[in-house]
Amino acid sequence: MEIEMNKALNGNLSLEENELIKISELSYKYGDLTALENVSLSIKKGEFIGIIGPNGGGKSTLVKLILNILKPFAGEIKLSKDIVFGYVPQSTSFEKNFPISVIDVVLTGHLPKKIRLRHRFSEHEREHAMTVMESLNIRELAEKKISDLSLGQLQKVLIARALMNHPTVLILDEPTASIDNDSSMEIYSMIKELSQKITVLMITHDVTRDLSFFDKLIYVNKIIHIHTKEGMDAGAESCPIDWLKAGEQIQQIMREKAKTSK
Ligand code: ADP
Ligand code: MG
Repeated sequence: MEIEMNKALNGNLSLEENELIKISELSYKYGDLTALENVSLSIKKGEFIGIIGPNGGGKSTLVKLILNILKPFAGEIKLSKDIVFGYVPQSTSFEKNFPISVIDVVLTGHLPKKIRLRHRFSEHEREHAMTVMESLNIRELAEKKISDLSLGQLQKVLIARALMNHPTVLILDEPTASIDNDSSMEIYSMIKELSQKITVLMITHDVTRDLSFFDKLIYVNKIIHIHTKEGMDAGAESCPIDWLKAGEQIQQIMREKAKTSK
């Protein structure tokens, strides 16, 4: 085990053709709390991946590790060289009351890694932001203050921001949480459309919905189970959910979890 771990840390993973992300025996801890354990996973170009699982199961932690916001405790993540991420974080982490207009929020998707104070956006960048908003049908929101938006509109704006750098992989963390059903449907179709063009990883709590449009479903609860249309990957036999019946079953698991944690 020790030897294998070192091997992984030394960066021996290699990507196969069409593979964008490869994760091997990944673990992560917050202090004494193990959030993820022995996670192995491969993501290929063009896939539309759903990430589900109970609250606190480690879904957000997994995407933060992929995005290099967190560093693995053990194991390795290999990314394809030319990968460009677009990220829509869990909306609870966005300060909505900041007095800033929609176009300025979208433009921050273009900020260089080291934020320069008083960065001025070029006319070209503004045009690009408008084009991205146009493609998502939210151009008319451009001059609004973000504090005046509905949650559904705000989420679309954050998706536009994530698209500013022409990502090859778009990662969304619960983009429809606390959003009414009609707006959720719109956001879902927006994301489905994007998934035709780029690779998409989407965490969703919306497990009562039909999830059959995903190519793959990853159930995360410290360990992961991978469900594909063909069935389950090796080792997933013990997964508590069944592909496409996920909704019902996860509700049940969550109810049981809530009971036992009382
Ligand atoms: P999910 O996104 O599936 O709800 P998270 O990845 O946010 O789960 O959290 C996984 C586990 O790690 C939970 O038990 C959570 O309480 C814990 N956790 C998350 N972030 C932190 C943090 N910054 N410090 C300590 N524990 C954390
Ligand atoms: Mg989360």
